[in-house]
Amino acid sequence: MSVAERTQVVIIGAGPAGLLLGRLLDLAGVDNIVLERRSQAYVLSRIRAGILEQTTVDLVRKAKASERLDLEGVPHHALQLVYKGQITSVHLPEFTDGKIVTAYGQTELTKDLCSVRDRSGANTVYEVENVELHDYDRSKPYVTFEQGGVTHRIECELIAGCDGYHGPSRASVPKSAIKTYSKTYPFGWLGLLSDTPPVSDEVVYASTPRGFALCSMRSRTRSRYYIQCSLDDKVENWSDEAFWTELKKRLPPVLSDNLVTGESLEKSIAPLRSFVAEPMRFGRLLLAGDAAHVVPPTGAKGLNLAASDIHYLHEAIIVYFSENDDLALDEYSRKALSRVWKSERFSWYLTNLTHQFSDDPFEQKMKEAELEYITTSEAGRRMIAENYVGLPV
Ligand SMILES: Cc1cc2nc3c(=O)[nH]c(=O)nc-3n(C[C@H](O)[C@H](O)[C@H](O)COP(=O)(O)OP(=O)(O)OC[C@H]3O[C@@H](n4cnc5c(N)ncnc54)[C@H](O)[C@@H]3O)c2cc1C
Repeated sequence: MSVAERTQVVIIGAGPAGLLLGRLLDLAGVDNIVLERRSQAYVLSRIRAGILEQTTVDLVRKAKASERLDLEGVPHHALQLVYKGQITSVHLPEFTDGKIVTAYGQTELTKDLCSVRDRSGANTVYEVENVELHDYDRSKPYVTFEQGGVTHRIECELIAGCDGYHGPSRASVPKSAIKTYSKTYPFGWLGLLSDTPPVSDEVVYASTPRGFALCSMRSRTRSRYYIQCSLDDKVENWSDEAFWTELKKRLPPVLSDNLVTGESLEKSIAPLRSFVAEPMRFGRLLLAGDAAHVVPPTGAKGLNLAASDIHYLHEAIIVYFSENDDLALDEYSRKALSRVWKSERFSWYLTNLTHQFSDDPFEQKMKEAELEYITTSEAGRRMIAENYVGLPV
């Protein structure tokens, strides 16, 4: 596909944030080009998140990309918390005016978004190198990059930085113009994906003296399990059998006895991090998704925050072009950050609550008291439910 020299919005990154934004802008008649460092095959095979909040599902429907999600997404009505071997089921609709979450893999969502984009003929340029952002503090920004040894330049009115935590968009902002906040956690998650039926119809969060465990699914036949591990652990140290044995030790018998094990399709260790960059607007550059913030996966907020950013951003960009309203872009940063910080708080809270990492006996007692409170109080369960299904956009 030839590369246009001009568009209204250059979107850097074909992850969920970039693809959703591109699609919503297309549907609103705003011309855009997506630039992606990886090949399409790589993007389509990346395994990541899998729980969608209702607002994410609604946005995918608005993007007219929900055909498969509506058919194959698995509704979850509860979150199961395991503490001292007991399972507390937090019934989501009871505390949230009927809201639920949906299990649907990020990989599948990416496939759907790529497919509608390709069918619409919108321009996505894969395998780009040396992407550089220019003059976004002025009225005529442009982006340069290389593809197949040829240098290209695209002039635009806005640049959307949807290029994840390591991308060039945030990195291009002068340090004096951006404030960052971050926290790393002293443990990681060892994850295993397998074509085995999930051990439970609902997601299970288990807090145990051996460490945290999470049981989730990507479909009714594909499971995703995680166990807390040490940061210096290596995936080569874990045979599939060792993983299953350890997972079983962290689950109550009613679950471990029913756990169907099988060969792993994928196994990896991920570090956990909280990170926010403020603001999310720099002149004509707008950051969205992991480019602006990262959460630990506890609580399943990463993909959902990328989607809620795009909810605000596509509306702001449409107002910007239709009404020539620059303030809408500032409002984007303010609105998105307000929701980002609340999701950061929940992910941080749930991570601290459910993982074993402190030797401090007082901290441990506080955690136990909090877990007892959550599992025995209606207000505690309501707080978990409200945040887990996603706060309003
Ligand atoms: C390994 C891993 C596992 C995860 N697991 C979970 C989970 O279980 N649950 C959960 O809720 N969240 C999870 N997350 C978080 C969730 O997947 C992310 O929050 C989500 O992908 C954010 O979407 P995004 O579009 O903002 O960024 P990304 O999905 O990171 O997309 C950014 C895109 O930009 C591209 N890009 C980067 N640099 C350049 C460049 N120089 N030029 C052009 N393109 C570039 C990248 O290739 C990528 O396609 C996980 C994240 C990772 C990394």
